[in-house]
Amino acid sequence: MSRTAPEAVDAVVLRWVAFGETSQIVHLATAERGRVAALAKGSLRPGSACQGGLSTGVRGAAVLRKRRGDLDLLTSFRLEHVHDGLAQDLDRWHAALYVLELLRAWMHPDLPAPELYAAGTTALALLDRAPADQLAGWVVWFEARALAASGHRPVIDACAACGTHDGSALWFHPGAGGLVHGACRPPGEARRLAPGDHDVLARLYTARLGDLAREPLGDRAVAAARGMHDLFVPWVLERRPRLLASVPRPGVTVR
Ligand SMILES: [Zn+2]
Repeated sequence: MSRTAPEAVDAVVLRWVAFGETSQIVHLATAERGRVAALAKGSLRPGSACQGGLSTGVRGAAVLRKRRGDLDLLTSFRLEHVHDGLAQDLDRWHAALYVLELLRAWMHPDLPAPELYAAGTTALALLDRAPADQLAGWVVWFEARALAASGHRPVIDACAACGTHDGSALWFHPGAGGLVHGACRPPGEARRLAPGDHDVLARLYTARLGDLAREPLGDRAVAAARGMHDLFVPWVLERRPRLLASVPRPGVTVR
């Protein structure tokens, strides 16, 4: 039996904790294996194969060795995207931590998650560099892609209760799974759509990234999407994300 060197996988550091004096336990997001917990032995030593330690939010090529019933071993990590813009601005940092929190919640060990991973890495790159007034818009874009990738895309082209496609379902109802008619609305928390909100949701959930980058959602549109995701993301997660209160909101900057 021949032993081949393990291949490097593209990975984002979701979080880490120190282990002993010089090592780290890291949680990684990957496309191929979902969420991976690994021990990086000696990673905090200068000149280590993990370049002196792994930081939250960085992306790179991870070489992992699987161990039965235990943490993987992270034998090296070659940094490819430092995302140094994130640490220089509180809004960017909070937005990135929120993205990492949702990735951690929606990824599972040993379950490939290529679409969710792509949404996360794209969001981190955008939050690192995008103009400050577009951060809130990229957070709702990420939530939309992440919800869809994890099987929670809300119904927006019909009434989620009666199934009618007449474009007149004007309440966003998390428990029903999307838009519902006033007459079909079950009990529970819901948000009434304002004129134009339906188009905002349709664009957010269907527009190509390039189109949104060329013509970003305006503040009013982002505020409408934010209001719906503020209800929907906690509903789907069955808890309120820890960092939801800190995400950038349109027209509001935290300094
Ligand atoms: Zn209906």
